[in-house]
Amino acid sequence: MKSFDLKGKVAVVTGGNGGIGLGMAQGLADAGAEIAVVGRNEDKSKAAVADLAARGVRAISVAADVTDKEAVGRMVERVGRELGRIDILVNNAGINIRKPPHALELEEWSSVIDTNLTSAFVCSKAVHPAMKAAGGGKIINIGSMMSIFGASFAPAYAASKGGIVQFTRACACAWAADNIQINAILPGWIDTDLTKRARVEIGGLHERVLARTPAARWGAIDDFAGIAVFLASPASDFVTGTAIPVDGGYSIMG
Ligand code: NDP
Repeated sequence: MKSFDLKGKVAVVTGGNGGIGLGMAQGLADAGAEIAVVGRNEDKSKAAVADLAARGVRAISVAADVTDKEAVGRMVERVGRELGRIDILVNNAGINIRKPPHALELEEWSSVIDTNLTSAFVCSKAVHPAMKAAGGGKIINIGSMMSIFGASFAPAYAASKGGIVQFTRACACAWAADNIQINAILPGWIDTDLTKRARVEIGGLHERVLARTPAARWGAIDDFAGIAVFLASPASDFVTGTAIPVDGGYSIMG
């Protein structure tokens, strides 16, 4: 299993203090990577770091808002100083504001786009010099079923998640020469803080997800450990620019 081994690698996971980000960070830690968890809520980050350290790897938390370019710059500098290198970046931080387009304010649109899409650009650009100097790296961007489908309540979210797939393809073309592979994961409906609110705000959502998902369940954060290790490890060295659904079959259901 050498091609899945991440010992000696350092991963930055934005929003790694909870939900899908934590599930991916746990997988990367179990494969041997040291982890920097990036988020705003320091209590959540502290708990995540304790969980990751208990898996036998070094883990740190860096408080940063990924919409703030200067804060991202300081975060990358601190990870380099404390963990020595950056081999893997997971652009996972994300939010949603559920309103139809005619009710969405410009500030709300900008907040979703900045958090879900622009942050991936800012973070990727910030780690690129270190990855290039090290001779390669891996970037994993998090899309959504709304990278593929529309939804009346998610104009900015769907735009950001569609954008992340195209951003992934553009970076994959640009940085192949630097031996950096960039791929996207498209989660189906996963049980996290984000969707706990969605289940309250969107009537009938829980039942509709179960009915449409061939696996007949909501996803769990553990479902993201394996794909994260694959896309972060040498096992995926010839895989770049893809968008891989991890959705229990939701996106192939006719
Ligand atoms: P959570 O709300 O559990 O996690 C989101 C994470 O993003 C939090 O840990 C939060 O940390 C972090 N975050 C949000 N805004 C910022 C910011 N400005 N700066 C730094 N960190 C930030 O949701 P999920 O785990 O469900 O979502 C993770 C990703 O997966 C998102 O990109 C989401 O769009 C995507 N996704 C989720 C799906 C689902 O069904 N759950 C389906 C499809 C995609 P903190 O609280 O510390 O700021």
